[in-house]
Amino acid sequence: MDRVLDHTTLYRLPWTLPDNAISWLEPTSSCNLYCDGCYRKNDPKGHKSLEEVRRELETFKSLRKADGVSIAGGDPLTHPEIEKIVAMVAEMGQKPIINTNGLALTMEKLKALKSAGVVGFTFHIDSGQNRPHMKGKTETELNELRLKYARMLAEVGDISCAFNATVYEHTLKDVPEIVSWGQEHIDIVHILVFIAYRAAPVYKGYDYFVGGKKVDMGPIAYAIQEDRKTSIMSTDIVTEIRKKYPDFQPSAYLNGTERPDHFKWLLTMRIGTKEKIYGYTGPKFMEMGQTLHHLFRGSYLAYTTTKTLRRGKSMLMLSPLDGGLAKAASAYLHGVMRSPGQLFKRLHMQSVMIIQPADFMDNGTLSMCDGCPDITVYDGKLVWSCRMEELINFGDWIRPVIAKPEHQ
Ligand code: SF4
Repeated sequence: MDRVLDHTTLYRLPWTLPDNAISWLEPTSSCNLYCDGCYRKNDPKGHKSLEEVRRELETFKSLRKADGVSIAGGDPLTHPEIEKIVAMVAEMGQKPIINTNGLALTMEKLKALKSAGVVGFTFHIDSGQNRPHMKGKTETELNELRLKYARMLAEVGDISCAFNATVYEHTLKDVPEIVSWGQEHIDIVHILVFIAYRAAPVYKGYDYFVGGKKVDMGPIAYAIQEDRKTSIMSTDIVTEIRKKYPDFQPSAYLNGTERPDHFKWLLTMRIGTKEKIYGYTGPKFMEMGQTLHHLFRGSYLAYTTTKTLRRGKSMLMLSPLDGGLAKAASAYLHGVMRSPGQLFKRLHMQSVMIIQPADFMDNGTLSMCDGCPDITVYDGKLVWSCRMEELINFGDWIRPVIAKPEHQ
């Protein structure tokens, strides 16, 4: 069978509902941008009180182990007490990671957040965001903005730096350029995340029900009236990246709740310098990382420290245990023999995560990420953050009913 990837040869990340790498906290639903594809309704008065935030963190604590907490929203930097929220997460023993569009980030704010205990930032930057002064900029042109934030973090030091971009049909071709930019800045950019665009189509042929009653999807942020491509797959993104990096090789994944062979979260870890990528870690390396972290720290690993990511050469010592590392070590040794100066360069590790959110199956079932890391709290329960608007608006999950074309 000609498949882009065979899931049986990759490591299935061990993340589950009660025992995961991350949880998703939304201290606010207020945002200073309106991004295409956002899952949350922008409510300028949507800040939660510190008491509410604490209650949600306690719910997480009682129901789910996790290494880190993604502090998202809305944009969390619009919350007037964001430093206290970061400190609260850290005090409760988890790594605070801020997911932001970066607009409200100043050097002063960054230093205050670092003092509060922030461990990482994930900046959402892409061309579908309606950013002021950035209209019409391509993904490649936005690399300049990405670099501004990466440099800010590098100046403060020891903060994990990630960038995520929603991938639309018309920007799929730009992904390799972002991956290439990531290599150019492998010393200060630690993670790249690509999220396939998803939405709930609301037009002829798609009806939505809650508890047997048809509902009006109008108020749902991710309902769209126009016919757009909502089915880009992780493997489409891999195929695109391979046009520039033919040996690009993911090693770990989360499957879909309806499809064992779909890659809902697909993780690749590459090793190299700004000039050359020597290779990709294999599934055994990923398994060792997750298992040892769980054994010694009690939770699955979410964010590796920036110090560890700089130790690419030490990681190559593990090559007898991992085929991917063995290949990378051999490529590195050949490189050093050809150009001995390489020996004095630091080898960095960088992750590329590809996310394929909810998929409509032919029978109307939604295939979610099995072991969803972005689970949040709603009404004291753990729920998918990408579909929380359904609970807010209808009190329950929607059930899509998709009309079959007449000839079927
Ligand atoms: S199920 Fe939804 S919230 Fe969970 S990881 Fe997938 S896209 Fe994110």
